Amino acid sequence: MSDNLFDLLAAGITDPEAVAIETQAGERIRYADLIARSGRMANALAAFGVQPGDRVAVQVEKSVQAIILYLATLRAGAVFLPLNTGYTPAEIGYFLGDAEPRVFVCDPARQEALRAPTEAAGARMVTLDAEGRGSLTDAADAAPETFATVARDSGDLAALLYTSGTTGRSKGAMLTHGNLVSNAQVLREAWRFTAQDVLIHALPIFHTHGLFVATNVVLFSGASMIFLPKFDVDRIFEAMARATVLMGVPTFYVRLLQDDMLNAETTATMRLFVSGSAPLLAETHREWQARTGHAILERYGMTETNMNASNPYDGERIAGTVGLPLPGTEIVVTDPETGAELPRGEIGMIEVRGPNVFKGYWRMPEKTAAELRDNGFFITGDLGKFDERGYLHIVGRGKDLIITGGYNVYPKEIETEIDALPGVVESAVIGLPHRDFGEGVTAVVVPTGSPALTEADVLAPLEGRLAKFKQPKRVLFVDELPRNTMGKVQKNLLRDRFAGLYDGAAER
Ligand code: ATP
Ligand code: MG
Repeated sequence: MSDNLFDLLAAGITDPEAVAIETQAGERIRYADLIARSGRMANALAAFGVQPGDRVAVQVEKSVQAIILYLATLRAGAVFLPLNTGYTPAEIGYFLGDAEPRVFVCDPARQEALRAPTEAAGARMVTLDAEGRGSLTDAADAAPETFATVARDSGDLAALLYTSGTTGRSKGAMLTHGNLVSNAQVLREAWRFTAQDVLIHALPIFHTHGLFVATNVVLFSGASMIFLPKFDVDRIFEAMARATVLMGVPTFYVRLLQDDMLNAETTATMRLFVSGSAPLLAETHREWQARTGHAILERYGMTETNMNASNPYDGERIAGTVGLPLPGTEIVVTDPETGAELPRGEIGMIEVRGPNVFKGYWRMPEKTAAELRDNGFFITGDLGKFDERGYLHIVGRGKDLIITGGYNVYPKEIETEIDALPGVVESAVIGLPHRDFGEGVTAVVVPTGSPALTEADVLAPLEGRLAKFKQPKRVLFVDELPRNTMGKVQKNLLRDRFAGLYDGAAER
């Protein structure tokens, strides 16, 4: 047997009759069906010219057939390249040009708009819907289910996954079969997954969270998932009546908390709530525990490394931290200038090493060399510190660090103060070019609207709570913060938008 993720997954199936995926429409897909349908689909991919090592780019709505396509791509020895369904044709054009996939699978409604970029990239356009022009599903239905899965080594590419683009242009992370397998196996143990588990799957499947965490962990455990097309409070409550695990982003939990239905009874069958992709507010953690009796397990990961750290399943889950390094993963906090390891308690650059760490950025050898050290550590770009118990705290992104008058200012500290003020929905603190200070600390605030909030209302309470150099020089009000599809605040867009704020400004 090879190191192909699919081979390892198939070898672990003990009950082919067990249900792997249940859809909202009531469709039940057994493990035996995944094997048979992915075999047919792998034959269809081969018929469309897909060879081992080719990229299969995919921009389709979430569906069971998309998961079949993912498994079939692995079986064909090709590289799965999922693309955000929110991307515009221009954005897709960039990714296709960069990745040069053999085929591009898209929904029929998008075909017309995407034909030109697909052709420009030299890819063949196909669809997943039955009876579309160039339908993979039609070809798969007509194909035999036996397919000899292509042998792969653990270092061979399984996926090319573009980062979320929170800090700039997305980069293609090259993930190997070994990366994905180790990640699924480690999480299965860490989070105690068994065949009895039922996961509520409400995440998109073009992102590491929904595909390589949620889906892979379930399939590697022989468990099942209730597949929801998207996050929907009512559907989540329905599913919670018989599920055991929910994996979500912080906004899932914030929105569920707004519903009166949330209590210990409506979450009685649940054994685990996991949060990741963005910081979970300590307040959300505490409220959730008070309402349901469950402590949300927060974890930390990224496209380039899969999962790095997780609060413990059995030990204490500490609000505001991402827990301990996962087994096999080493995490160090280093001085961003010298690269020297820092002692516990000090804030520095988070670096990660382990079988989970990617092979490098696609066609970006310089960036890869700059961020992947010779000793195997990946420089994540995130700032953090270990506390005295060894729990990791994420302080923010290195790119968001503000240096004002020679002082380091960590936006999260100021945001936490501002978010707690009456009349504030949320805030983002950024550094803007400033003649005297290098960068001027600036608060961008979303007010609740009534009563009208003024700059002084925000600034006055901060005096005495924050050192002078940390206090914002200006407060700007906006209706909402720009976010990417994973719900992460895009501070680079705010910095661009307000770049000239201090031009010619008098010192304050
Ligand atoms: P890009 O690299 O293109 O700017 P991105 O970093 O947002 O985008 P992802 O790989 O999807 O792309 O996100 C990983 C990042 O998300 C991490 O580097 C970290 O900054 C943030 N993150 C993930 N989990 C957590 C968490 N639990 N707490 C705080 N931040 C988190
Ligand atoms: Mg990133």
